[in-house]
Amino acid sequence: MTKFTSPCYLCGRPLAEPTSWDHVPPKQLYADEIRKKHSPNLLTIRVHADCNQAYQHDEDYFVNTLAPFARGSYAGNALLKEVFAKYGAGKKRGLVHKVLQEFERQPSGLVLPANLVAKRLEGERVYRVAWKIIRGLYFHHLADVLPEDTPNGFEIVPPDRPAPKEFIIWPPDEPIRGRYPGVFDYKFAKFPEVHSFNYWAMLLWDRIIMIMKFHDPACDCDHCVEIRSTRVPIAPM
Ligand SMILES: [Zn+2]
Ligand SMILES: [Zn+2]
Repeated sequence: MTKFTSPCYLCGRPLAEPTSWDHVPPKQLYADEIRKKHSPNLLTIRVHADCNQAYQHDEDYFVNTLAPFARGSYAGNALLKEVFAKYGAGKKRGLVHKVLQEFERQPSGLVLPANLVAKRLEGERVYRVAWKIIRGLYFHHLADVLPEDTPNGFEIVPPDRPAPKEFIIWPPDEPIRGRYPGVFDYKFAKFPEVHSFNYWAMLLWDRIIMIMKFHDPACDCDHCVEIRSTRVPIAPM
């Protein structure tokens, strides 16, 4: 039996079988065509099989609901073509149908503008997957679990909106880290002098920017300390 030495980044508990390999970011971001042509070497992290499974539906939703905004880039067009091909073949028809109904002339709820048509998103589900991606990358780079309830700020910048200033003036020596940048790219910076403030930005399909800001998991500001005090402790490994 395998003896695991690291925790599951999704729940923070020690790893134990059954486990599975989680793709960070979700594999569905890559159209099959892109995967075949460019064979990107995707990052995987071992997690509890149940924890992985618990994100499956939201990851499908995330990709399908954002795909229409990816139109216009190489990887985005390939993805959108695939979403419609699957719809034509009767796969995931319910999901695609649901996503298409999210387009409406009269915006209500959480609105992500794209040209003149507003699209309503289930913001919680999109956020949950975006945060999972960041937590996976954080674990990969810093070997530290970022608990799901860490307070954060989340922002989506669709293709027709100007990118935030701090995104544009990003220090040029900050490396670009995506394994296949046409699909998924990201960068991050840490500012230890301000509550160990973390700023992460992702670029999806060269079209959609997502920004996540948060404090270090061990931050000692009042807010973070209070959040931590309400947690059920995890047994040490
Ligand atoms: Zn887990
Ligand atoms: Zn804090």
